[in-house]
Amino acid sequence: MAKEIAIVGAGVGGLATAARLAHDGYRVQVYEKLDRPGGRNHLLEDAGFRFDMGPSFVLMPDFYREVFRYCDADLNDYMDLRTLDTHYKIFFPDGDVLNVTRDTARLKDELERIEPGSSRGYDEMIAETGRIYQAVEPLLYECFTRRSLLEPRLWPLVPKLRVHESCWGLASRHFRSEKLRYAFTFEAMFIGVSPFAAPAFYSIITYTDQVHKIGHPMGGMYQIPLSLVRLAEERGAQFHYGAEVQRVTPGRDGVRLQIGGDTVAADSVVINADYPYAREMLLGQPLPNYEYSCSVYLLYLGLKEKVPHLEHHNLFFAQDLRLNLAQIFQTKEMPHDPSFYIHVPTVTDPSLAPPGKEILYVLIPVPNLKGGRDEIAAHEERLRRLVLDRVRAVSGVDVEGLIEVEHRFYPRDFARYNCKYGATFGLSHSLMQSAFFRPPNWDPALPHTYFVGASTQPGGGLPVVIASSRIVADLINRHTRG
Ligand SMILES: Cc1cc2nc3c(=O)[nH]c(=O)nc-3n(C[C@H](O)[C@H](O)[C@H](O)COP(=O)(O)OP(=O)(O)OC[C@H]3O[C@@H](n4cnc5c(N)ncnc54)[C@H](O)[C@@H]3O)c2cc1C
Repeated sequence: MAKEIAIVGAGVGGLATAARLAHDGYRVQVYEKLDRPGGRNHLLEDAGFRFDMGPSFVLMPDFYREVFRYCDADLNDYMDLRTLDTHYKIFFPDGDVLNVTRDTARLKDELERIEPGSSRGYDEMIAETGRIYQAVEPLLYECFTRRSLLEPRLWPLVPKLRVHESCWGLASRHFRSEKLRYAFTFEAMFIGVSPFAAPAFYSIITYTDQVHKIGHPMGGMYQIPLSLVRLAEERGAQFHYGAEVQRVTPGRDGVRLQIGGDTVAADSVVINADYPYAREMLLGQPLPNYEYSCSVYLLYLGLKEKVPHLEHHNLFFAQDLRLNLAQIFQTKEMPHDPSFYIHVPTVTDPSLAPPGKEILYVLIPVPNLKGGRDEIAAHEERLRRLVLDRVRAVSGVDVEGLIEVEHRFYPRDFARYNCKYGATFGLSHSLMQSAFFRPPNWDPALPHTYFVGASTQPGGGLPVVIASSRIVADLINRHTRG
């Protein structure tokens, strides 16, 4: 009889694990507390608008393809993944604009306009981050412990990872202008960490943006969890929604899960619920004093009309980015002059709104709730006004008058997914919480128990979480089949 695997959580990490293990012949049961899959990759529907509530960038598309290949399937049969022509548009506070395009020749023209000679710096940065990527990519499919540091095969990698330098430091060696340094380091915020603090090896996000390009699944980001559910169900995985697991008890012969008044037994469990919550609340274990990623304040606006001059992805930088980031990560104040991001998926994908209408999804990074008060209420109207004023300044349109539907999402709302302290991206990706130091996907002290997702190895972001599911599937296969 095939072994039974219980998966706690139907986030992208849980779904990708379910698909792999069902494909490998296990009996897979997925328990999800919410009424639909996706976790932070959630969907909100209102008046014909389909808002993707979380991720909006498809980076590292090969990682998405890999999980389908693992299951002897082809991503193209599940999703219509397109590559964007304009990766993102940056609006600088002095009114200057930079279009970061898929076409490198056009991009270099833009860079030269801002900093003469910078196209050479760009090439050098891509070459350097490419070398780091070649070193890091295989590591994304391995589970490490601190003891792995003793393995001689890994020693030659350490200098290649540039652990002593930040993403900002790396970019500063290639660009003189602060504008271009910002433009090629802000990606650290994708994993909720300041570019001034993120170890330089996270510049591989910039490399993959530039070299592997940025995608969009037609029909919206929610096609990602939907496709993974289909992939898993076709291979026999079963899903239980509205099924909140209260306790996981590992034992010598298997695990027991408490779900409502019932107890369910399985040979092994894969916990996709965010690691700090899982460790503390599901397994009843004390937590180290972890560092957490930042949080975000989100606005989902459904507009009656289109807004000119915006691209699919838009970044608005603060006048003083250092102060902005210090307020988020160090002094933990609501930013006075925030940088923010606007996702306008209807630029590429009009199907996400009624004909002629537009979606604006606004994301403002703010401090997490660890050790601080929930201060968003006192600041939200000011932040919202500031965003709408900057949109009016660049588009000439008063968005306020066009709003047909509006939803807001606060740091405290991340409790919905059991993300501790409203930390949108889970545990921080600081040096001491990366690679060998990040919680491993398996702990020998907890038999038959595995962890997948953003706060475990290798880290956060959809493609990396998908890699995490590969690590877990490989571990389970190794432990059960030898
Ligand atoms: C606003 C925002 C923007 C982002 N932007 C990007 C982006 O552009 N590109 C990108 O690649 N990544 C982005 N990310 C990060 C990405 O969304 C996450 O890294 C990824 O979705 C995490 O997936 P996961 O499977 O680890 O966890 P989750 O998505 O958190 O899934 C965990 C699941 O477990 C469930 N669960 C929790 N506790 C229990 C329980 N006790 N019982 C049963 N079920 C439980 C939860 O409900 C949830 O469904 C963004 C995230 C957010 C929130």
